[in-house]
Amino acid sequence: MTPNTETNEQLFARAQRVIPGGVNSPVRAFKAVGGTPRFVKRAQGAYFWDVEGQRYIDYIGSWGPMILGHGHHGVVQAVQAAVLEGFSYGAPTAREVDLAEAILRLVPSMDMVRLVSSGTEAAMSALRLARGVTGRHKLIKFEGCYHGHADALLVKAGSGLATFGNPTSAGVPPEVVQHTLVLEYNNIAQLEEAFALYGKELACVVIEPIAGNMNFVRASVAFMQRCRELCTEHGALLAFDEVMTGCRVALGSAQSLYAKAIPGFEPDMTIMGKVIGGGMPLAAFGAKRAVMEHLAPMGPVYQAGTLSGNPVATACGLATLAEISKPGFFDGLARKSRTLVDGLAQAAREAGVPFSGDCEGGMFGFFLLEQLPQNYAQVMKSDGARFNKLFHGMLERGIYFAPALYEAGFVSAAHSDADIAETIEAARAVFKTL
Ligand SMILES: *Cc1c(COP(=O)(O)O)cnc(C)c1O
Repeated sequence: MTPNTETNEQLFARAQRVIPGGVNSPVRAFKAVGGTPRFVKRAQGAYFWDVEGQRYIDYIGSWGPMILGHGHHGVVQAVQAAVLEGFSYGAPTAREVDLAEAILRLVPSMDMVRLVSSGTEAAMSALRLARGVTGRHKLIKFEGCYHGHADALLVKAGSGLATFGNPTSAGVPPEVVQHTLVLEYNNIAQLEEAFALYGKELACVVIEPIAGNMNFVRASVAFMQRCRELCTEHGALLAFDEVMTGCRVALGSAQSLYAKAIPGFEPDMTIMGKVIGGGMPLAAFGAKRAVMEHLAPMGPVYQAGTLSGNPVATACGLATLAEISKPGFFDGLARKSRTLVDGLAQAAREAGVPFSGDCEGGMFGFFLLEQLPQNYAQVMKSDGARFNKLFHGMLERGIYFAPALYEAGFVSAAHSDADIAETIEAARAVFKTL
């Protein structure tokens, strides 16, 4: 066994020899902010400890899943019990049915779900299903939204509406993204123009309702309403990517917030992940029955997975959803996020640093900008060099924020008022150095 005496730096050096960039998912590498990634030894509650024994207050929570904090007793017990019964069978289990029912209770816009193992897989499958159901090829996505790394979704805007997207990754043939139109988030006029040009060819519009992959940018109610109207009018499916926001910004996910503002509002498809797996590899996509019945083995749209609906992952997801469904859970979480964002804003104000922040449920974001941005171009005006100083200043004080200015933050039920106060105190000191 590897001794614990290795430092983060030594481990990173070893890792870089055998794993590209030393990490198994790029943002962990600290490439944006510089420095050495922390190798985590263990986590409990709101904290994790690195291999050098340093404790951090964790505001990434595995990038969203750990809404109860780490090592929640009830969840650990459920997972331990499941492990003793077997890791994976490749045959159906009652827990899959229980979890599907639990998800549908929370997100009633769907009649059926299919369980998969990652958000990427869920988004990729949902897209295939949308195309299969409509018999159309084109789709709209928005700049700054991330839907996992399926080829057709790794795309940036072309030079105008007449040209479709360009791949954002090597290895993606232009032909694969030629049907993907990338539009500006919150831009109603551009959306209308795109529908006027391609409405009858569009299979779906896929959107992060609160875009956590550009830190924290809400789709305006007017924009969302127009998305809904145009999809309905043209027979395209409105697909909500709630992998991050699902059971995170509200028990009923982001769509429940839009339903409050827009009477009768529902997306046609929902893509989920992160919280519904409670930290295990589990994701899902769902829609109305008439759409979902197109999936194999019922229909002609193929989709499958050896580990889909894994018995340990479903146990973890079920235990997590049971906890977050308890009365008042989201009120407490929202109050903490609000206290944090308001405290950071106050600390920035005292130091004369431009700041804007927002939060919903257990998800928050902030920018070193006077005003909350509405789209990706505005997000990118946030001061990267200054953010990096902030990130490292906080890290030195034992506060772990997302190591990139375009990533959201997450508060868990395990974060205490004292943790939040400690974070704001640290920010007060760090903002003065910016
Ligand atoms: C994290 C995320 C994904 C991808 O999920 P993975 O499990 O990392 O594949 C897709 N969409 C959104 C909105 C996400 O935040």
